[in-house]
Amino acid sequence: MTDCKLLINGALVDGDAALDVVNPASEEVFTTVAQASESQAAQAIAAAKAAFPAWSRTPIEERQAAVNAIADAVRDNADELARTLTAEQGKPLVEARGEVAWSEGYLRHYASMAPESRVVQDDETTRVEVRRTPLGVVVGIVAWNFPLLLACWKLGPALVAGNTIVIKPAPTTPAATLMLGALIKDIVPAGVVNIIADDNDLGPYLTGHPDVAKVSFTGSAETGRKIMKSGADTLKRLTLELGGNDVAIVLDDVNVAETAPKIFDAAFLNCGQVCMAAKRVYVHDTIYEDMAGELTRLADEAVVDDGANQGTRIGPLQNRAQYEKVSDLIQSARDEGATVSGGDRLDRPGYFIKPAIVRDAAQGSRIVDEEQFGPVLPLIRFENEEDVILQANASPYGLGGSVWSGDQSRAEAIAERIDAGTVWVNQHITIGPHIPMAGAKQSGIGIEQSKEGLEEFTQMKVINIAKPPAAA
Ligand code: NAD
Repeated sequence: MTDCKLLINGALVDGDAALDVVNPASEEVFTTVAQASESQAAQAIAAAKAAFPAWSRTPIEERQAAVNAIADAVRDNADELARTLTAEQGKPLVEARGEVAWSEGYLRHYASMAPESRVVQDDETTRVEVRRTPLGVVVGIVAWNFPLLLACWKLGPALVAGNTIVIKPAPTTPAATLMLGALIKDIVPAGVVNIIADDNDLGPYLTGHPDVAKVSFTGSAETGRKIMKSGADTLKRLTLELGGNDVAIVLDDVNVAETAPKIFDAAFLNCGQVCMAAKRVYVHDTIYEDMAGELTRLADEAVVDDGANQGTRIGPLQNRAQYEKVSDLIQSARDEGATVSGGDRLDRPGYFIKPAIVRDAAQGSRIVDEEQFGPVLPLIRFENEEDVILQANASPYGLGGSVWSGDQSRAEAIAERIDAGTVWVNQHITIGPHIPMAGAKQSGIGIEQSKEGLEEFTQMKVINIAKPPAAA
């Protein structure tokens, strides 16, 4: 496997410490990577700051070409990156290959974009133009569920917009991201991209540093709040993509056999560890038993195994803390009187839990109200559409949601009333680089993807010019 060193100021360097990376399917250390100290984090920020003036003046075509070249490198190393992702994150190899392909695709999309200027006044006396300039040093901090993809969601727009960046992966999934650093080393000038790993200790330093202009963060709402606080002294620009507790509302007129597998996929992709996964399913009373039966059958049939093995549908939870948290939530559902099918731990090493379907889960119970971020899906029965809208909107989160119906206009009318940044109709988690992704309520602040997402990596600057008087 490629050596996993830090990328600081254009050089691959050893860490001041070393970090063991555990394969969640075996609980064994599969590699040891470089771990940065605070002084190495300081070096990374200093390098990004020093590289900023020249990079921000580099023509946009060259910046786009650099992002395209990174996409090429991801494509050319797809197999090793995917295998590393499966080993450190746990997802089935087919999903890891998908993550690598998406990473490449998102980078390519960003490489085709440019921040747009516009003229808002142009008359005899005045010309006013709104331009977009880069911000400076960006810090990108990501979660462990899609390590490579989330890093690329920050890398691509930051570079195209003319910023320099320091990226920090999650401590349990640093390997593929550090490999990306090795691929980037010779593509961009020294200091433009820096990638450092930590043991969950450098976040406050990076997000409070006075030379950092913006933090782009993907992770939990709890950490998002801390980042707002540490960025407050220097009023940093923030994009916070946080947790969710997405609803799927299933109306009485769906075809159960067609709908159940789609909801199952939306809930159990990546072992349920997806910010926008369907996390609570409200099913109309008249089809509740049929839907619960289909979902339970799909859960029973899903192959739970090491993601490296062919045929695996659901891999392990990514880390021990999450494994314990999800087990505890499943137990709480049992204790609160719901009927849980599946949900047992596998009797073998690895953080494996059989996918669980929770019937007759009650609004107000932990399994419904909390983000589970794992392979367990509560089904809540409803009869009245007004009630279900109220229940859907009772969450402090508002990342996504979906409405399922045989009648599109009926579903759209409900979608309109769900408080979330994205509401799908008859699908869930379909996203793309051209589609803005914004969290409502406590699911986040700001936007990723699309023109609006790129603009978050820029400062709006107004150039307001008085024209000389016309000659008499
Ligand atoms: P987390 O918040 O614990 O960690 C995320 C990252 O923040 C890690 O790199 C961690 O080292 C770092 N960090 C920890 N403390 C910090 C601090 N004080 N300051 C700065 N950085 C700090 O989240 P997690 O458990 O790794 O990820 C799971 C959560 O992420 C879930 O809630 C999930 O919904 C959310 N998520 C959201 C999105 C989205 O786009 N909205 C995508 C993926 C995951």
